[in-house]
Amino acid sequence: MKAVRVHAYGKRPSVDDIPEPAVQGPLDVLVEVGAAGLCRTDLHIVEGQWAEKTGVALPYVIGHENAGWVRAVGDAVTNVAPGDAVILHPLVTCGLCRACRSGDDVHCENATFPGIDTDGGMAELLLTNARAVIKLADGLEPKDVAALADAGLTAYHAVRKAVPLLYPGTTCVVIGAGGLGHIGVQCLLAMTAARVIVVDPSERARELATELGAHEVRATGDGLDGSAQVVLDFVGERGAEKQGLAMTRRAGSYFVIGYGGSIDIPTIDLISTERNIIGNLVGSYNDLDELMTLAAQGKVKLHTKIYPLAAVNEAMDDLDAGRLPGRGILVP
Ligand SMILES: [Zn+2]
Ligand SMILES: [Zn+2]
Repeated sequence: MKAVRVHAYGKRPSVDDIPEPAVQGPLDVLVEVGAAGLCRTDLHIVEGQWAEKTGVALPYVIGHENAGWVRAVGDAVTNVAPGDAVILHPLVTCGLCRACRSGDDVHCENATFPGIDTDGGMAELLLTNARAVIKLADGLEPKDVAALADAGLTAYHAVRKAVPLLYPGTTCVVIGAGGLGHIGVQCLLAMTAARVIVVDPSERARELATELGAHEVRATGDGLDGSAQVVLDFVGERGAEKQGLAMTRRAGSYFVIGYGGSIDIPTIDLISTERNIIGNLVGSYNDLDELMTLAAQGKVKLHTKIYPLAAVNEAMDDLDAGRLPGRGILVP
């Protein structure tokens, strides 16, 4: 089969012919990839930023935002059958550890992460397991939802945690309405009665946020100090982290989703205002299932550009150069 493999860090991946994976374990699910989202993390992988963290052996197949159709299943699989359209939770989890038993898939003690630490989905076939697959509702196509498997899931997970805090009358500030942020805005509007203010220096992003129904858009956070019950920071660097915390009101919560910067705050400022700083990592299977419900209802839509699998490097160039509005999707 054709697959996009990284051979050496610092070099672009190539499209190779490699042997097809096959069902081995009783809970394995083999998926014909219908679409694989291209993520900024893929650029970071190729640059070698993840090399030490994952220790993955090269060459290997990247692609961690996947959807497609089931081709074959192991003997014990009962939740999907060949032919079903599915989206894949990005992790392959065990189901037996404490985190899995709490529904907290991301912190599974025995997980693999296809596309990060094992072969991923920028290929014709991908091997996962029964716990990772969610059947798509009629009308949802793999190419339309693939990037929700990671980018969308991460945004949804943060919003889901913020929902109980955002009672009617509160304000939520969203910093950054790009790939993740524009999903976050749609989730907020679908699930809360909060006033949603988007802060983004990009005019294009502000236009998109307005189109999606944000109540107010601003180029900067000036004048918003101490105003937000919740701040969702999809940037997390270049000063956003300082502004985000400042915009959070007393007893409010600052959610860190984007990353790269650092937070330095006198502890007395935290206790005297009782503000919370909350980290967010991907999302659970149930989060993804709920997000698929919003997608099926038409309440969450991704802006995408489709490329054939063989054009992976063109897509990466476009992403790298900021020429890619929305999300790049590779179709094998
Ligand atoms: Zn991703
Ligand atoms: Zn587990």
